Amino acid sequence: MPLEKQQAIVLSNSDYGESDRIVSLFTLEHGRLKGFARGARNSRKRFGPALETFARIDAQLNHKDGLSSVRSADVITLYAGIRGNLCAIAHALYACELVEHFTPEDHPLPRLYRLLIAYLEWLDANPASDSDRRMFEINLLNILGYRPSLENCSRCGGVFDDRGALLQQNGELACRFCAKTGRTIPSAALQGLGFCLSTGRFGQVVFEKEELRIAGHLLDESLAVHSARKLKSLEFLQQTCGEEGS
Ligand SMILES: [Zn+2]
Repeated sequence: MPLEKQQAIVLSNSDYGESDRIVSLFTLEHGRLKGFARGARNSRKRFGPALETFARIDAQLNHKDGLSSVRSADVITLYAGIRGNLCAIAHALYACELVEHFTPEDHPLPRLYRLLIAYLEWLDANPASDSDRRMFEINLLNILGYRPSLENCSRCGGVFDDRGALLQQNGELACRFCAKTGRTIPSAALQGLGFCLSTGRFGQVVFEKEELRIAGHLLDESLAVHSARKLKSLEFLQQTCGEEGS
């Protein structure tokens, strides 16, 4: 089987046996893959630090269903700026776990790949912020087709007026004619999230404290609807960086 060179981000890794490693890679061409790296813990020559979580690498691999074989890997960048700051590390690990948790195996998602790279590059050079984290989440949900509509009622299709929308238990948004209960998501928060989708650049959207709290609640609900469990890295993020808006 021919070796392929694949651009990838390391989403997670775990030791296997005496000297091997199993890695989860998010590749540009094949999406998420599980890879077996034989001898990775002993061979500095073939792997060096390339299999660290959130490293950006060129991997040489035999692509197979289930478990690919990673023969060697070269570091493109380890994002040293992120690794020097615990809160930035927490955000990078969270972004990687989101991608690992929400993406199907062996399904190319080049837009999500570029989003993850853009976020890691931003974190590498700028302080981590909750606005940027929320920008990553809404764009991830959008690319995967899980985003609630921010402009139109999920039931009647009517455009939300300036009172905003009501958040429903299924993570969708409804207008005041269709729903009687639900937390209000004001139009400013909806517009801020809409801007996150249209700008495509981190650092462009800075939510006001109250908008951030409400937009965060909407995103937490939307992610929870599509997720069976709380992500481990989220707890670490909350412990490391403090609760949102505080
Ligand atoms: Zn409606």
